[in-house]
Formats: sequence, structure tokens, C-alpha cells
Amino acid sequence: MKTQPTKRRCNRCTETLPIIAFYWNASRNRYQCECKECQKERQSNSLRLHKEMYEPRVLPQPNTYENEEQRQDVFLFLQAMGWLFNEENKNWYKEPLKDKNGLWNFQTVK
Ligand SMILES: [Zn+2]
Repeated sequence: MKTQPTKRRCNRCTETLPIIAFYWNASRNRYQCECKECQKERQSNSLRLHKEMYEPRVLPQPNTYENEEQRQDVFLFLQAMGWLFNEENKNWYKEPLKDKNGLWNFQTVK
């Protein structure tokens, strides 16, 4: 009869924990090398990072704000990224990437 290990060392926090503290990875037919807590932490971290980087608000599409706070957020964020706002046509631009008229300039982007 095969005996299962009862304890395992977590690769992340380096704690030796009872095997129940680890998720079973069915596709690899073994336990995860990180404990549940570390996995949870990693997932919430990457989720947060992912949200910060890819949430629609980072896209330079103006005039679609839910409220003033969100508008300011977008302005601060885009300005920090080097984008400029053209008040005349409400376009975000960043030369040479995108010009004042809101046209993307793919040719000069290397
Ligand atoms: Zn851990």
C-alpha cells in the first residue's frame, strides 16, 4: 500500500505544514508546492496587479466616467503615463504614439 506523505514544506513561506494545508493538483497528480495560504496570497496579489494594469479605466477613452472621482483617477493615471489631454476634441494623445487629433501613429512606433 502506498503511503502518502503527511507533511510538506511550502516553497514560498518555507514552513513545514500538514499535507491538508496544501491543495491537491489533480492534473499533476501531486500536491501543490505552495501551501493554501501562500496560493491564496499569490492569487489575490496577481489579481490586484492584473486589475490595476488592465482595468478599462487605463485606456485612453475619455468622457466615459462614472463620476468625478473616476475622472480624476483617469487623468492622474494617464498624465503619469505621459499622456496629454487635448481639451478641444477631448482626446488623449502621446506623441509620437498618438497625435493631438487622436490618430494612432503605428509607423513611428518601434
Ligand atoms: Zn506557504
